[in-house]
Amino acid sequence: MFKAILIDKQDGTQSVRLAELDEAQLPEAPVSVRVEYSTINYKDGLAITGKSPIVRKFPMVPGIDFAGVVEASTSDVWRPGDRVLLNGWGVGEGHWGGLAQKARVNPAWLQRVPERFSARQVMSIGTAGYTASLCVESLVKHGLTPDRGEVLVTGASGGVGSVAIALLARAGFNVVASTGKLSEAEYLKSLGARQVVDRHELAQPGKPLQKERWAGVVDSVGSHTLANACAQARYRGLVAACGLAQGMDFPATVAPFILRGVSLLGIDSVMAPRELREPAWDRLARDLDPAALDRMSKVIGLEQVPAAAQEILAGKILGRIVVDVNR
Ligand code: NDP
Repeated sequence: MFKAILIDKQDGTQSVRLAELDEAQLPEAPVSVRVEYSTINYKDGLAITGKSPIVRKFPMVPGIDFAGVVEASTSDVWRPGDRVLLNGWGVGEGHWGGLAQKARVNPAWLQRVPERFSARQVMSIGTAGYTASLCVESLVKHGLTPDRGEVLVTGASGGVGSVAIALLARAGFNVVASTGKLSEAEYLKSLGARQVVDRHELAQPGKPLQKERWAGVVDSVGSHTLANACAQARYRGLVAACGLAQGMDFPATVAPFILRGVSLLGIDSVMAPRELREPAWDRLARDLDPAALDRMSKVIGLEQVPAAAQEILAGKILGRIVVDVNR
């Protein structure tokens, strides 16, 4: 038997509980993993509360990521005892996920835990941090260099934002953090932001073209914030868009793209191929200070997951929430 968060739906009503499940109930797949840590990402918040139709079949164990140890494997790639992590691939959406003591998954979905990190530390990074790294990789690959000017990070105190600040600062960029939590300015500066701005300046409807400021942007917020970030991007500026914490809409014009040569770079972590995942994790392993990871994360147990899901959607979480599934 093992413990898991279980989401069910009866007569159109969704319920969530901490359940005791039998291993025989796990999905058929070649690799069985003893999960050590999982996390609460924004998407997990949406799935657990049912605020968006993230879960595609019921009952479902949520959790879009986990880290643990291989227990049994019929694949050539993984052996019992291997330290593995998983981000995305529809796990926690259409296939039972990581908010459980056991998981059974496809071998191609697993990656080795970088030597430098513990299972807890890779889940402090989690899908949010790995997505932040995909954003930074994309900006750099498209030519962003520190001498081109300031880089804006929106949703700065959240999971994606916190890790993006740390990675960009480490790579030598002048990072400006946009946040609704100005009281956390010192935290954001401790991660590497040189300046902190009030997110309300970016969250309101704005003009199609505004004063040029940003050489690069990591946006996890969407809506007017993303539209304003594009309108304020410098000539040939680069904007990586990965999130929708303010909204899924994009109330913008084409002006920044056709008059200033701004590029909008779309970032998806779920189905990103290995050739994007591996460099993103290499950057995290090389550039993230394990001490910074401890500063930006808080550990909870499985029974606290439903409450944490509500909090992340309310934008109340600072940094990352790690779930110790054995606590
Ligand atoms: P968090 O909740 O940790 O962070 C989001 C942050 O956005 C909040 O902390 C807050 O930061 C800010 N925010 C919240 N509500 C609003 C609002 N109404 N208007 C403006 N800003 C707001 O979430 P994550 O960092 O884990 O994820 C961020 C986004 O990225 C989510 O939309 C998530 O779905 C998406 N995402 C996408 C992925 C992909 O593959 N494309 C993968 C991972 C995440 P502050 O208070 O500092 O302003």
